[in-house]
Amino acid sequence: MARKASASLGVVTRSYVIRTFGCQMNEHDSERIAGLLEADGMERVDDAALADVVVLNTCCIRENADNKLYGALGNLKVLKEINPGLQIAVAGCLAQKDRGMIRERAGHVDVVFGTHNVNRAVDLLDHASQHGPVVEILEAAARDDGEAFPSALPTRREVDHAAWVTIQIGCDNNCAFCIVPAVRGPEISRPFGDLVDEVEHLAADGVSEVTLLGQNVNSYGRDLSLARRRRSADDDARMCGEVWTDDRRVRPLFSDLLRAVGQIEGIHRIRYTSPHPKDMRTDTFVAMAEVGAVCEHLHFPLQSGSDRVLSAMHRGYTGARYLEKLAEARTTIPGLAVSTDIIVGFPGETDDDFEATLAVATEAQFDSAFTFIFSARPGTEAAAMQDQFVAHDVAVGRYERLRLVIERSGIAANRRRIGEVEEVTIEGPSKKNPSMITGRTRRNTLVHFPAERPIKPGSYATVKVLEAGVNHLLGELIEVTIPARRRTRITVAAG
Ligand code: SF4
Repeated sequence: MARKASASLGVVTRSYVIRTFGCQMNEHDSERIAGLLEADGMERVDDAALADVVVLNTCCIRENADNKLYGALGNLKVLKEINPGLQIAVAGCLAQKDRGMIRERAGHVDVVFGTHNVNRAVDLLDHASQHGPVVEILEAAARDDGEAFPSALPTRREVDHAAWVTIQIGCDNNCAFCIVPAVRGPEISRPFGDLVDEVEHLAADGVSEVTLLGQNVNSYGRDLSLARRRRSADDDARMCGEVWTDDRRVRPLFSDLLRAVGQIEGIHRIRYTSPHPKDMRTDTFVAMAEVGAVCEHLHFPLQSGSDRVLSAMHRGYTGARYLEKLAEARTTIPGLAVSTDIIVGFPGETDDDFEATLAVATEAQFDSAFTFIFSARPGTEAAAMQDQFVAHDVAVGRYERLRLVIERSGIAANRRRIGEVEEVTIEGPSKKNPSMITGRTRRNTLVHFPAERPIKPGSYATVKVLEAGVNHLLGELIEVTIPARRRTRITVAAG
């Protein structure tokens, strides 16, 4: 029912919908799946009722991930009864974790694939249409397989001027609350030369802002010297970059990558997420200060201010050490904005532990924070600490107190900016008030301002800050400094 014939060619075009349930890494994987389906000739539609293929890209970092997945699958079962040709695929972290169990609970699912074989999406859909349902989960990404990195696959970007670039997959840490190492495997860094090539391609395609993505970006390169040893000298530059081959250093650093990407013509802004405080080094702060394109924004996940809880979480730093690194960052990078993640009510957290978190948060003076009440993720160490779970009403009370501390420092930081002129990237009309335009500052704050005529998303402008809220600024347009660049071709990321 959803197939349609192209008027000019008489070709039957299949259509798809992707629903994404997760974090930025998941959204980036969804862009890759969309790119693969479109490279295979499919067209995106917004309504599952009009699609031939529905892909649910799951995430088990988010709360209630399985309820959301099986709720969505229940709705799709009705659609499949009406349209038996509909193919339903489940991908992502929850698929990696639950594997065959997904088809046991939802027999109408045609394809299940995991985090290490996103590149197989089209082949698996083809296989299922010819031979019936298929579940394919790989235990780990192949180290030398360029396609293991989502950025190495065709892309359908959601916006023209900004792109995510995966620099590393997996994680070698074992934070007690986190399922990522189990579902994404050990850390693998993408070869340095491939990354630089990809950003050059993106810049040629009109992208001016890149966000370097990884679970622990500042340990980037840790594994590349080993990979290099298995290869010929000719591969040095591809694996580890020119810097490495010149300096005879053991491995490329994340700061080398910031510097290399910062030299690419057309790249005006560089962001990255997420670093780990224990691995944060001075050279990264120095590169952030010295490379003009790197934005003055650091997302620096604290998780807890209590040394006892940090130890139980296996975070590898203390509250004092975190604050030392933060002070170094602020001294090195003028005008730095800092955001963080904090979990309230981790199993065993006492009133004193929470007071320590409040004390660190107060001293840190964060610009913003993602604060969460602990919620057990099945399969993690913390989920098994049931005898130490904090009562929900206690956790809610702590959460509210922390929220006030964060709001106080956030609005104070925003008020200090009143009267300043800041550069923004235009994102488009304001979602709440379409007569206003929304831009994003280098410090990652949204600014809303009136404009006499529309300004194309991806343009850069200067705006004078007039008013400050907790999470946004209001301003007036000074001038458009760089008009949005026109896209020159359909994106296919470097491979
Ligand atoms: S560093 Fe910790 S929280 Fe981040 S992905 Fe790795 S295990 Fe999870």
